[in-house]
This record gives sequence, C-alpha cells and structure tokens, in this order.
Amino acid sequence: MTPQRRAIIQVLLESAGSHPTAEQIFTRVRDVMPDISHATVYNTLHELVEMGTLLELNLGMREQRYDINTTDHAHLICLGCGRVEDVPYDSEALTLSPEHTHGFQVVDCRVIFRGYCPACASQERHLRSSG
Ligand SMILES: [Zn+2]
Ligand SMILES: [Zn+2]
Repeated sequence: MTPQRRAIIQVLLESAGSHPTAEQIFTRVRDVMPDISHATVYNTLHELVEMGTLLELNLGMREQRYDINTTDHAHLICLGCGRVEDVPYDSEALTLSPEHTHGFQVVDCRVIFRGYCPACASQERHLRSSG
C-alpha cells in the first residue's frame, strides 16, 4: 500500500456516503500531501477501482463519482443539487429469468433512483407558488 493510496482511501473513508468526484478527492488529498499531482490521484483512483477497493460510478452526471462502499447498494440521486445517497438494496432480488439473459453471465447490476431531495423539492414548490 503506497502512501498515495492510503491518503486517497483515508479521504474516501472520511467522506463516506458523499460520493466525491476525482477533482474533489484531489483537492482533499492535496491538503495532506501538497506535492501530489493530478495524474497521480487519477492513476491511483484507477488502480483502486481495478483492485476492487473502490467503485467508479457513472451516475449519468457530468463527472464520475467514487464510492468506498463496495457492498451491494443502490443510489438515490437528486436531479436538483446532485446529492447522492446510498440506499440498501439486494441485487439478488432483481434477477433475470434464464430466457432473458441472452446467454449472458450477469456479474453486476446497478440500480439508480432519480428524483429531488427534500431541500430541492421544497425549493421547487416555493418557486412554483411564487412564480
Ligand atoms: Zn437536491
Ligand atoms: Zn454508494
């Protein structure tokens, strides 16, 4: 375990549940390792994803998010502010019957719920009632 890897994992553990972008991770790692380069952070993130220590999430947003929680879970995403929440989810509950797998050996299933968090939902209501 290199010091860079350790620093990145530490940042992710401290921000568990917030699903930071690579850029946000870079900013926070730099606080503890001022000499670390952008490239090092990006490469290390890739290594950690390959090792299975981290999940790289493509949530249909502008930037990939990183998740230290590699257990089975789904995500709730706010379309207003981009907030991402972990929600418990049993991926085994969603299974394909053999005739629907088209011969695929399914190894992964990602579930994303999209909507508006309470803050964004109330703001929206407020805008609508005043506008
Ligand atoms: Zn929101
Ligand atoms: Zn997550």
